[in-house]
Amino acid sequence: CGIVGIVGNQPVAERLVDALKRLEYRGYDSAGVATIDNGVMDRRRAEGKLFNLEKKLDGEPLAGTIGIAHTRWATHGVPNETNAHPHFVGGVAVVHNGIIENFSELKDELIADGAVFTTQTDTEVVAQLIAKYRRQGLDNRAAMLAMLNHVKGAYALVVMFADDPDTIMAARFGPPLAIGFGKGEMFLGSDAIALAPFTNEIAYLVDGDCAILHKDSAEIIDFAGNPVERPHQISQATA
Ligand code: GLU
Repeated sequence: CGIVGIVGNQPVAERLVDALKRLEYRGYDSAGVATIDNGVMDRRRAEGKLFNLEKKLDGEPLAGTIGIAHTRWATHGVPNETNAHPHFVGGVAVVHNGIIENFSELKDELIADGAVFTTQTDTEVVAQLIAKYRRQGLDNRAAMLAMLNHVKGAYALVVMFADDPDTIMAARFGPPLAIGFGKGEMFLGSDAIALAPFTNEIAYLVDGDCAILHKDSAEIIDFAGNPVERPHQISQATA
């Protein structure tokens, strides 16, 4: 339901949760945040309000200057901690807004292939697919594009890789997703309102766009890998 991502140069966990709070008006049933610190990707997730996630983070903080976060409005799978995003499979972390329409075919194929699913969500197939393509030898970017060419439905997706702590990838087909351009940091948000405390320079992804963000650069490509340009705008959202 709500998505935020930061690839930056300062700790992100608290900023990610604060940005999720700006999206609370949209409603949600659970929430989660993941970061990478010193090569270790870790997450905290909680059912219910962001207050519950904050309590977990107070008890067990997450360090790291790259991270992704999500508030979930369950469509497939009950609202509990296990089904809360980010989903982790084989060093790949995924948050998702929307619905993967062909998830049950993909899930059957992946299971026949040996995949072990740990959630009831449609979203997990995204992480499972990327992990499978990586095992087959594709690099992260190629694995992301291969996944995008197999899933059908409506999605805003944000993906992080444990072995690449300077990159966040994102894709849009349906639900909105905007890049925020900071100073030495890049942001992603499902709504410009979430990004207002960080930057007012934004660019909306268009359906069929994949973004590859590093802390000081942003590249947008189509699902075939060809570069595309999207206009930068000054967001009117206030911090
Ligand atoms: N379909 C996904 C799920 O149920 C994402 C829902 C959302 O947009 O928050 O986990």
